Parts: sequence; C-alpha cells; structure tokens
Amino acid sequence: MRSEPAVAVTGLVKRYGSATAVDGLDLTAPRGAVTAVLGPNGAGKTTTIETCEGFRTADAGEVRVLGLDPARDGAALRPRIGVMLQSGGVYPTVRAMEMLRHTARLHAHPLDPDVLGERLGLGSCGRTPYRRLSGGQQQRLALALAVVGRPELVFLDEPTAGLDPQARHAAWELVRQLRADGVGVVLTTHAMDEAEELADHVAVVDGGRVIAAGTPAELCGDGDDNVRFTGRPGLDLDSLRASLPPGCRAEESPAGRYRVTGDSGPGMLAAVTAWCAAHDVLADRLTTRRHSLEDVFLELTGRELRP
Ligand code: ATP
Repeated sequence: MRSEPAVAVTGLVKRYGSATAVDGLDLTAPRGAVTAVLGPNGAGKTTTIETCEGFRTADAGEVRVLGLDPARDGAALRPRIGVMLQSGGVYPTVRAMEMLRHTARLHAHPLDPDVLGERLGLGSCGRTPYRRLSGGQQQRLALALAVVGRPELVFLDEPTAGLDPQARHAAWELVRQLRADGVGVVLTTHAMDEAEELADHVAVVDGGRVIAAGTPAELCGDGDDNVRFTGRPGLDLDSLRASLPPGCRAEESPAGRYRVTGDSGPGMLAAVTAWCAAHDVLADRLTTRRHSLEDVFLELTGRELRP
C-alpha cells in the first residue's frame, strides 16, 4: 500500500555473538522525504540499514520496508529499492559507464544512465575501469548505481564522504530531486551540515537505540538564540556586553571567535551589529541561529571518543 511508510522498524535487536549492536531500535521513514540516521561510530546505524536492505537478519523486532519483510520478501523488494554500498559490488575491471548502463538494463523503467552519469560528473571517467577510479569517483558511481533503477526507496550510507564540494552539491541536488519525485531516502551521515541541508527527519542513534528523533527544527529548536561571528582577537567584551539587551551573554572562545547568546530575538542581532559598527569591527562569518545540529548531537551523545 502506497500509504505505508517506506521503512517501519520496531524493537529491532541484532547481536554479534555476545555483543548487542542494535538494542530495541524503532525507526520510521516516510516516502517522499529524507530521513537522516545519525550517530557516533559503532552506534548501530549500518547494522540497522543493512537489516532493512535484507543483508542481515534481525534477532528480534519487526522490520517492514515498503510494507514487506526484507528477510522473507527480498526477491520482491530488491527491484524496488536502491542501495548505495560503501564499497564493493562492482567488478574491478568493469568501466564506470558500462556498469551504470548494465545496471540500468536490469530495471524496467530506469533513468537514462548517460544523463545521470553526466549529472554526477562520470562522463570524463566513464571509460575508466572501476579499480582505477579515484575514491570520490567510485563514490559517485555507487550513488548513480543506487538510483538508476528509479527506486521507490533508496538507502544511502554516507553518500558524500570523500566527495569534492562540486560533487557534494550535485549529490545533494539529486537527493532533493528524488524526494520531490516521491522517493523515500534514508541516509546515514557524519556530516551534520548535510543532515541539516537535506533531512526532513532525523533519528539520532546511540548504543543501538534511537535516543532522539524529529525534524531538524524540532531537535534544534530548544535553547537560546545564538549569534556567532569571527573578528580580531581580544575585542572588548565588557563593552559589547554593556550594549546587549538584558540577559544576553557574550564570550570569546577560541581566540577571535565570538558567541552571543540570549533569548531576546532580533534585538540581540541589532545590538551586536550596531556595536561592531561603532567599534570598527568587521564581523566576519556572522551567523544567527539556535543550536546547530552538531551542538545537539554532541549534547545528546557526549564528547568522548567512541571505541
Ligand atoms: P559507523 O559510524 O562507524 O559506520 P555504525 O553506527 O554504522 O558505525 P555498526 O557498523 O552498525 O555501527 O556497528 C555496530 C556495532 O556492531 C559495533 O560495535 C561493531 O563493532 C559491531 N559489528 C558490526 N558488524 C559486525 C560484525 N559483522 N561482526 C561483529 N560485530 C560487528
């Protein structure tokens, strides 16, 4: 049924020997939307996604992908989903565009592989064997292979890791178009700006469970307003504080990077820029926002390195 979510995971548990990688995880990803699964290394994201893709079987819980059980209905599901693998899945000697055209032919209604290849900048390396492609070119090919069959749902595992800025923007544009075409997109990423840029929904996974979920705005909405700028180190913070509305705070950390926080709305921004103008400070990289997704992520998952 088209009204079913693209992905519905309830109480998923996956163990590797005595270690529990996924520990009662719930996740819903709608169609026609981008769902970003975030989490520290080892949180259980890839295990979850691979279970949805049918590459792993659950020890407990229920997984439904386009209404089907990937462990049981893999044959029916495979033509309807696109999977971007981190690596592998391509013969080392096959040429990039040959692989893309071949994959397109396996599907009933594929995208035009030449148009897609051009769009992702594979044109000039189209005749290069896979093993001679750069890491970023292999990554672009993997993305193209995941979407060329016009899937109803696509899983992208760190789709832009290692891409140059141009390719990254081309990949983002492609993801936006997939969403506009009604495709469900589930992506894992460590790039918080990517999640902020693309995601309609975010699930933060830690210790094999979803510890927070919502739209980026919902996750970032709590907390004070926040104005940040870069300027010469050692600005007179007492003077700045004196010109801010009551209840606002200003700090410099690290040197030359300033942050003003408070809940006074646009008045705070006006006060900061007026103070900068009066003190001949060119406020560089001035941004206004509440918490960034990165702030929220670090608050939720802590700053300690994961094993
Ligand atoms: P990353 O951000 O590093 O990709 P992740 O959130 O995708 O991490 P998973 O790859 O799902 O994490 O791993 C979750 C846990 O399961 C980790 O502790 C990992 O060591 C373990 N694990 C993953 N695959 C296997 C496996 N095949 N055998 C044993 N343990 C595994």
